[in-house]
Amino acid sequence: MGQTADNYRRIRESLPPEVSLVVAAKGRRLEELRDVVRAGARLLGENYVQEAERHYSELGDVARQVQWHLIGHLQRNKVSRALSLFDRFQSVDSARLARAISERAVKPVPVLIEINIAGESSKHGIPPEAAQELVALAGGLANLRVEGLMTMEPYMEDPEGARPYFRRMRRLFEEIKAADVENVEMKTLSMGMSNSYRVAIEEGANMVRVGTAIFGPR
Ligand SMILES: *Cc1c(COP(=O)(O)O)cnc(C)c1O
Repeated sequence: MGQTADNYRRIRESLPPEVSLVVAAKGRRLEELRDVVRAGARLLGENYVQEAERHYSELGDVARQVQWHLIGHLQRNKVSRALSLFDRFQSVDSARLARAISERAVKPVPVLIEINIAGESSKHGIPPEAAQELVALAGGLANLRVEGLMTMEPYMEDPEGARPYFRRMRRLFEEIKAADVENVEMKTLSMGMSNSYRVAIEEGANMVRVGTAIFGPR
């Protein structure tokens, strides 16, 4: 079935069974997405609402075989559109966005809180120090179900350089879990991309988001 399918299967088989593999779909063609779903992919991650809508309609019946995860930044004026497509929101990073999603949703939406673990100005996400407060606030909203944390680590040529950030994320995840916040079940830690997912899993990730290693360079 071609390179995309082979890559997907090889990576899936290399992962421990309890680790979820989200296929990052940004910038990919319809045929590539079809191939990866045919190869067994069931979680697609999208960065942009508009591109996700296009992928969804192009894929037709195939679109309904997968769970759609929003992994990119969401503007509040696109929340309603996002709600009609996405099953999960991985990039909730403010109280205002959390409230906007809960207010417009008609049933509880599973979300992850996005953390800017290295404090990079180029990245979205809330600072780790503010994470527990946002988790608690989001947990108190009627139509949000907080399930864990997500991060995009600083890009490093050598993924070993990202290990300390993954380790910090794991610690934060465990701290919040131990705090036993009302209405919150901390179970998903989404971190690691094409060049870093192996290190992320060693440090406790149970969800990784991979694009380039499956499809090749964009
Ligand atoms: C693009 C993207 C990924 C995947 O990155 P690759 O290096 O292509 O594997 C993961 N997470 C987010 C949020 C992304 O935007």
